[in-house]
Amino acid sequence: MTDEVRKDVLAVYADADAAIAEARPRCDASGRCCRFTEYGHTLFISAFEAEILLERAPFYEQPVSRDGCPFQIEGLCTARDSRPLGCRIYFCDPGYEARMSEITEDALAKLKRIADVHGTGWHYAPLHHFLNAPREAGPNDRAGDSMTPPVTRVPLPVVNHSGG
Ligand code: SF4
Repeated sequence: MTDEVRKDVLAVYADADAAIAEARPRCDASGRCCRFTEYGHTLFISAFEAEILLERAPFYEQPVSRDGCPFQIEGLCTARDSRPLGCRIYFCDPGYEARMSEITEDALAKLKRIADVHGTGWHYAPLHHFLNAPREAGPNDRAGDSMTPPVTRVPLPVVNHSGG
């Protein structure tokens, strides 16, 4: 990832963080949303987010299953600074649901625009897909497109299993 792309992606994170701070969703700190199978959803991320996450994330064992995130230790996120957009935006607060969809759509549209402008290609897949790829692989070496959800507009990077 070039410095320019990284700067643009981090600006998307900053915009999302600001929008979430304004919306002030409630978090019960249960940590369940990072235990994907138990919670019944899948965290999708882009190759941009995977690269930023892996630059600073702690060591983890491979292979990673789709059941949960290896960076959740004793209920806490150990990759908080570099966590992907879905982790930033998703809260289980029912009163925040509509705003969450808007923030998600806005962030995804911005990421896709960055991919277009910089000609990087668009790779979007479940977290474990990227965590099981070789760390040295670049975004274009990752076959994420085949795992893209079967709709072009998803309400959340976190997709309920029952919904597709
Ligand atoms: S990176 Fe952190 S917030 Fe995101 S799923 Fe993993 S433990 Fe949860």
